[in-house]
Amino acid sequence: MAMNDDEPTVLIVGAGTFGTSTAYHLSHQYKDPSRITIIDRWEPMAPLAEKQAAAVDTNRIIRTDYESHMYCNLANEAIHPWFWNMAVQGHFHKTGWAVLDKKNGDFGDKVRKTFDERGGDYTRDVSVSELRKYEVLQDLCGNTEMGKAYFNPEAGWCDAERATMSFLRVATNNGVNRVTGEVTSLLFSNNKLTGVRTSQGGTYTADKIVLATGAWTSTLLSPLEDILNVPEKDRIEEQITSVGRLSAYYTLSLPEVQRIIESKMPVVVIGKHVDIIPPSQPNKTLKINDLKTEVVHHTTLPSGRKISAPPRVEQALIPAKLRRQSEEVMRTALPHFTSTHTPSRWRMCFDAVTPSEDFLICIHPHSSLSNLIIATGGSFHSYKFLPVAGKYVAKVLNREGCGEEKDRAWGWKGEEERRGGGGLERLAARHIPCLSTRTSLYKEAALTASRSLSSS
Ligand SMILES: Cc1cc2nc3c(=O)[nH]c(=O)nc-3n(C[C@H](O)[C@H](O)[C@H](O)COP(=O)(O)OP(=O)(O)OC[C@H]3O[C@@H](n4cnc5c(N)ncnc54)[C@H](O)[C@@H]3O)c2cc1C
Repeated sequence: MAMNDDEPTVLIVGAGTFGTSTAYHLSHQYKDPSRITIIDRWEPMAPLAEKQAAAVDTNRIIRTDYESHMYCNLANEAIHPWFWNMAVQGHFHKTGWAVLDKKNGDFGDKVRKTFDERGGDYTRDVSVSELRKYEVLQDLCGNTEMGKAYFNPEAGWCDAERATMSFLRVATNNGVNRVTGEVTSLLFSNNKLTGVRTSQGGTYTADKIVLATGAWTSTLLSPLEDILNVPEKDRIEEQITSVGRLSAYYTLSLPEVQRIIESKMPVVVIGKHVDIIPPSQPNKTLKINDLKTEVVHHTTLPSGRKISAPPRVEQALIPAKLRRQSEEVMRTALPHFTSTHTPSRWRMCFDAVTPSEDFLICIHPHSSLSNLIIATGGSFHSYKFLPVAGKYVAKVLNREGCGEEKDRAWGWKGEEERRGGGGLERLAARHIPCLSTRTSLYKEAALTASRSLSSS
């Protein structure tokens, strides 16, 4: 395909949140969407368990509650399509969400201040005893002393398997090509990135490459940075870390599901402990996300460089030691529910986390990689932006920029800015710089996982 300055060919690697959203938006902007290709390792119709993307799960929480005005505005921009976009009708469940903060926590106060400053706070206070009226939450947190709680009715959860597929279907119906293949390397020749190679030996070329590979981004980019001798401080590993979190899925009986739905139980967040997402009639699944236990797994490249990357095992295979640790977190939050129910499955799902928990949507700073756009850095809170994120990736791709504030937040960070840290996901117990204990924990436990893999 000939180079066309107005409509350069684009290859999007990764059909998760950022990649799908980019394909969706470009498919509306291009006169000829067939100049866009999106590639992912999983078949669109494969079962949920085979799709390791963070963008594919039984559910993801959708809310506008942010202390940061920029993300609160962006989440409001995104919630409108979640409510009204015909492509995703039926996937969003407006249950509201209740947040119980840790003792002396100020997440709720800060969010409500931001809502006020934007012109309207529609949240209300709730007490722990009010929350305990829900069957699942009857002895919420046991004797652990907690802080204040509030309820926002304008939030809920979304079926993150079907919604991601719906957005992608719009893109492919508009003419975008969807390819299934595991990308094994980025192709570099004549001092320029030209495309990718897959494990099946296929090559795909384009004028511009969007790397939207989430937690696997360093796996693809670091070997190329090795070839280009990119200095340590300018590498992708300094921008993002691949981090895993655990979720437990409980299949409930139909009467139980019915009672929970009739009680109008919202999504519940117990700050620094867990998220609880209620079931629907079709999925019959109550999900608990552990906000405390986190995993960083390292892999060694042929160059000898160590990078963070998800382990190459099924996400359902949770090392026993980690699972016990996570069970304890869930037991502390929900003593009654966890003693009367057993998860039907577990998942360890990975995301790319930045030091400030801002996205990373920018062009790679190396002079030979000016046609490489990186779109990642979801940092455990970015699925809700699926309807809008790609609009901004397209702006970076077209070199328009996203406005000063967003360009600064989402740009490639220097050492000073990285050290500033920050942190939007103030409800989680994460402290990214201290990863070594988590790493060794996983390494030890990973052996158990690989043994059970080979014995199955
Ligand atoms: C446990 C957990 C709970 C979360 N809860 C919420 C929530 O409630 N609300 C919310 O808004 N956000 C939530 N998030 C965050 C959100 O899901 C992520 O931030 C977002 O999905 C990241 O998008 P991404 O496009 O960067 O990565 P992904 O969605 O993971 O997509 C990356 C894609 O790249 C593909 N890929 C990678 N490498 C290759 C390769 N070599 N070849 C081919 N394909 C490749 C993968 O298969 C995948 O499809 C949660 C995340 C996790 C892990």
